[in-house]
Amino acid sequence: MQTGLKVLLVEDQHDIAANIWDYLERRGYTLDHAADGESGLSRALKGDLDVIVLDLGLPRLDGLELCRTLREAGHGVPVLMLTARDTLDDKLRGFAEGADDYMVKPFSMRELEARIRAVHRRSRPAGDAQLRVGELSYNPSSMLATRAGQTRALTRVQGVLLATLMRDAPNVIPHRKLIEAVWGDEGGDSAALHTHLYELRLLLDRPFAHAMIQSVRGLGYRMVPPP
Ligand code: CA
Repeated sequence: MQTGLKVLLVEDQHDIAANIWDYLERRGYTLDHAADGESGLSRALKGDLDVIVLDLGLPRLDGLELCRTLREAGHGVPVLMLTARDTLDDKLRGFAEGADDYMVKPFSMRELEARIRAVHRRSRPAGDAQLRVGELSYNPSSMLATRAGQTRALTRVQGVLLATLMRDAPNVIPHRKLIEAVWGDEGGDSAALHTHLYELRLLLDRPFAHAMIQSVRGLGYRMVPPP
């Protein structure tokens, strides 16, 4: 099973962390773990995460401080806070610091997974909607693109590029904007962009007479539905 969701787990209690890790990994999640607040923060700041599961009480830097620092740095990744019952009052502070939801320990793994999916869904209300341009449709949740009845599974990068082109079709999307959509502030360059778009066009355009993804020399790319 593959959900495609990347989860960072910041939890200092080894048994709890191991339980969560085992459960979510079996359910197809990709996991990363930090056992204290400082290493959790440095991992979180690297980005490329779908959800952070964050314990409130952590050595070196507590969960609230981590969350506040992350938000100040401009990261909008959804955060699900874990808290002990006796620190429940902290939940209000937790939301003020930018947490999206909280769970009181102990909780069931099934409940945890439901909350992870919920905060992830809420964080991208527009992003998960099915996109359609002419005979091509794309579902960002499943990362499946279908053109004229033929379905292709896309990589994350291909999916981001396709969704960006489809949302603004038939306008030209500048190279710079496409690079930002995929790599954010973390770099990326036009050579990598062209490579990924070349692969995307092989998947979605090559079998057909009309090329929907068109390169506009010196400017960018655009998506044009078949006439
Ligand atoms: Ca703790």
